[in-house]
Amino acid sequence: MSKYVFDTEYDLVVVGGGASGKMAAYIAKKEGDLNVALLEKMEKTGGSSIYAEGQAAFNSIEQQERKTPPKETGTAFDHYPTYKEGYDRYMDYSHQRANPDVVRMQVYNTAETIEIMRGLGIKYTGVMIYAYEQQNELNTFHRPDGLGEHMQEVLLRATTNAGVDIFTSTPAKRILMEDGKVVGIEALDSDGNKLTIGCKAVILASGGYGNNPEMVSRYSAWQHRVAFYTYQCVELQNTGDGLKMALECGADTDNLGALMMVPCARGKQLTAHTNAAGSQPILWVDRFGKRCANEEMALSFMNAGACVAKQPQGIVYAILDADTVQYLTEDGSDIGLGDFIEFKQKLTRLQTELDQDVADGVAWKGDTAEELAEAIGIDPATFAATVAEYNSYCDKGEDPLFFKSKKYLRPVRKAPLYAINMAPSILVSTGGIRVNGDLQVTNINYEPIPGLYAVGLEASGLYGDNYNLDVPGTANGFAHASGRVAARHVIKTLKG
Ligand SMILES: Cc1cc2nc3c(=O)[nH]c(=O)nc-3n(C[C@H](O)[C@H](O)[C@H](O)COP(=O)(O)OP(=O)(O)OC[C@H]3O[C@@H](n4cnc5c(N)ncnc54)[C@H](O)[C@@H]3O)c2cc1C
Repeated sequence: MSKYVFDTEYDLVVVGGGASGKMAAYIAKKEGDLNVALLEKMEKTGGSSIYAEGQAAFNSIEQQERKTPPKETGTAFDHYPTYKEGYDRYMDYSHQRANPDVVRMQVYNTAETIEIMRGLGIKYTGVMIYAYEQQNELNTFHRPDGLGEHMQEVLLRATTNAGVDIFTSTPAKRILMEDGKVVGIEALDSDGNKLTIGCKAVILASGGYGNNPEMVSRYSAWQHRVAFYTYQCVELQNTGDGLKMALECGADTDNLGALMMVPCARGKQLTAHTNAAGSQPILWVDRFGKRCANEEMALSFMNAGACVAKQPQGIVYAILDADTVQYLTEDGSDIGLGDFIEFKQKLTRLQTELDQDVADGVAWKGDTAEELAEAIGIDPATFAATVAEYNSYCDKGEDPLFFKSKKYLRPVRKAPLYAINMAPSILVSTGGIRVNGDLQVTNINYEPIPGLYAVGLEASGLYGDNYNLDVPGTANGFAHASGRVAARHVIKTLKG
């Protein structure tokens, strides 16, 4: 007899209504006919998954039908990757930090998502790389029509129609355990009253802790700079609740502190043309006015995020002159940011946005390097010397300092000159709860905690210290696949 009195009972409670949670709930109901409750903290389900533009898969039906990837994307890979290439890339990119069981789960199970979503009516408009001209990327990025938002609408409909009970505005608070096993969960209902649900298994699909500044500060490798972070461009409630609940049950963590981080013009959104301009391979200087990187690495925006985060106070000033403003406006961007800013998109709002940002004091303008430095508040002599040196490399077509390719060497000469303040911006956290290949949460001895699972961004195992854009769509591919694999393990455990 349980010591708890339950208000209601289910076989399975899923915490979080993003891609991973909805996929888990849908499969548990459809394939196992389990009684499933899905608790979502926000008024609507979707989470960060509505922003995802595509998902990774290996050997999918879309890849098989297309046979070869589009050539114009500019990757070194002329074929769709094999399971082995996927596996090796995750392990190599993470310097063996990734969990082989989780990686194997990912490469073998992501293709099924494409089949399921096609069956539910999703059409895929492309299978490619994410950032055009990034040589290292594998062609894994499956881009659905209507992107993540549409995928999540379709999955919500399927989950509801399958008969899952979805409770919105109902945050989960605490997992209830007896004799080392999950027996229930405590939540707050939409009126703020305590709700105690009995269940045999809980799947934590609550999206990591990327929106919890205190946790980012505590765990992140960049913690000493966290005061300077901008907290992303989207409003979410991924505040580490799943991690907290799992830790209370004796869960181990894995690679805690890894983040999906991008550079973003401070205070702006990903779609801003000033943000797009600042993310180009133009001159980047630190807060002392010194050049700080081969700006070409911004082709992988995760690397660019790390590059900005490691600068003093997490500050990079992206510098452009009137010629570059004209180039980006008329010829378009050299680097795209997925669908937020497409490759070669003309930044037609750039001049207007720059004028507004200068007026608002978040970007700066000057007719000379010295004048611009004074406007920003950095040492004019140092900055002028940096610009002069950089311009000499542009003239020679050779960059002996950082080895940037000639085609990205754009001088900073024609007035007016502008500076855009790029800051590290967290999209989501990527390290978290330790799991095994069935997505069971494990303790410090790597033993599963009976009845407890973590999926999507709550589960760790695919990454090293940075998000792996070499395999584009990894997080969203993982969210769907991990939800499904966890649900099937619950079915097997409960039904044999
Ligand atoms: C702007 C942006 C763009 C992205 N683009 C891509 C992309 O193109 N490709 C890619 O692979 N990845 C992308 N990602 C990463 C994306 O987050 C993952 O791909 C994935 O979809 C996450 O799914 P999830 O189910 O783990 O989490 P989420 O979709 O974030 O879902 C978590 C849910 O849990 C809820 N929740 C939190 N706490 C509780 C609680 N206590 N009780 C109940 N519910 C709770 C949240 O409200 C949320 O709805 C992007 C992320 C962002 C922010």
